[in-house]
Amino acid sequence: MLAMPTTPSLSSGHPPTPRSVAVIGAGAAGLAAARELRREGHGVVVLERAAGIGGTWVYTPAVESDPLGLDPERHVIHSSLYSSLRTNLPRESMGFLDYPFVSRQECEDSRRFPGHREVLRYLEDFARDFDLYGMIRFETEVVRVEMDGDGRWAVRSRKVDKNGGDYDEEEFYDGVVVCNGHYTEPRISDIPGIDSWPGQQLHSHNYRVPDPFLDRVVVLIGSSASAVDISRDIAGVAKEVHVANRSATDGTPMKQPGFENMWLHSMIESAYEDGTLVFQDGSSVHVDIIMHCTGYKYHFPFLEIKGIVTVDDNCVGPLYKHIFPPNLAPGLSFIGLPWMAILFPLCELQSKWVARVLSGRVALPTQIEMMEDNKAFHLEMEVTGWPKRYTHNLGKNKFEYHDWLATECGYPVLEEWRKLMYFECRKNRIARPESYRDEWNDDHLAAQAWEDFKKFL
Ligand code: FAD
Repeated sequence: MLAMPTTPSLSSGHPPTPRSVAVIGAGAAGLAAARELRREGHGVVVLERAAGIGGTWVYTPAVESDPLGLDPERHVIHSSLYSSLRTNLPRESMGFLDYPFVSRQECEDSRRFPGHREVLRYLEDFARDFDLYGMIRFETEVVRVEMDGDGRWAVRSRKVDKNGGDYDEEEFYDGVVVCNGHYTEPRISDIPGIDSWPGQQLHSHNYRVPDPFLDRVVVLIGSSASAVDISRDIAGVAKEVHVANRSATDGTPMKQPGFENMWLHSMIESAYEDGTLVFQDGSSVHVDIIMHCTGYKYHFPFLEIKGIVTVDDNCVGPLYKHIFPPNLAPGLSFIGLPWMAILFPLCELQSKWVARVLSGRVALPTQIEMMEDNKAFHLEMEVTGWPKRYTHNLGKNKFEYHDWLATECGYPVLEEWRKLMYFECRKNRIARPESYRDEWNDDHLAAQAWEDFKKFL
């Protein structure tokens, strides 16, 4: 699903041209971008609306006023983490390429699949060790980004000052790198009859701890890593847990092995006024709470680019290689859009490419060629029956994409152990969803990783 040039597009001998670049967001993507852009000689300012770095990895017990996360006037909570969350990848594979995610001094959680606090600590170490804090303006929300008549980028940001007042500022940059994350704006499933159904609904974005589910009958919709984790989290306290899953059609409802109170169902067919939900498998349950574990929408409320880039059925486009809108490249770029990928190394490689393209050391194809590549990509999606909403799901080709980016930048392709570890972990997660974080068969791959890490430690 990737049109692959055979040779990298390095413009040999071209001295890098430093640019002024605004990075929006100081999560993993923004930090990776800031480091790579500065390494390439650019002047970088990171604008971050929170008071600290880490984005998704900053856990808060607070939830939004609208549990479904649909009310545009709600106070938005950025992170979707739940209290019990542990990583769904082993730490060796998850970390940045040249900054291994190993237990450092004063580490409180040295597990291979650590809890979320350990990931935040790792990102804080990364920001400190690469001296990134000085580039970041905290409590500064980007509210508008548009191109001015000279091809520069006007970035309007809103600062909340210490005395509680707001003030706006407009600045001009040669480039804007969007790293605002995409796990904050909930998507919910359509359920016929839901308007008259009397129970409670929430999105997993607003799930934190199991206590509110004590003795309740709960239906979770979805099959993501969050749905798997949360169903097990609440099964310990809930009366019944029913998981409705698009891919579960035959032989449901099916009692889940190891649980007396959890069943797998096909999708919900309809909801009724008396509190009942009927599933496509013909079963019905009287339900107190529905939790939508149905993913998120890309959302760029600050972009004023006159429809040049749109979000349609969760496809951001048109984009060249998930990063550059052909008509606005290289000034505008997006880091971290792909999913079903190893995110930190992916953001790092995308950032290296963006930094080199901005400096002129790596050449992009022409606008027409980039558009053609995008069209070919979507045509191939259609032919293979890959739905539009999966545009940024790297699917089976995830490592082709990582390796393509690395090659473009003259950087080594992803280590073989990292790729194998990803697939081993996935296999293990499916085979033992309860215990894959504590039992595994890939110690040999971890040993190879540690051998590799020696050069960075
Ligand atoms: P974020 O971390 O969301 O950061 C975006 C930043 O942009 C935030 O700090 C936000 O405040 C800021 N921002 C947003 N809008 C503005 C604005 N207008 N102005 C200024 N600042 C703004 N990945 C893994 O590798 N392993 C895992 O185990 C894993 N588990 C996950 C579990 C859950 C529940 C979720 C939701 C995600 C998980 N991920 C995991 C994916 C995770 O999102 C990525 O690892 C990574 O943290 C994404 O980084 P990001 O920088 O793209 O986005």
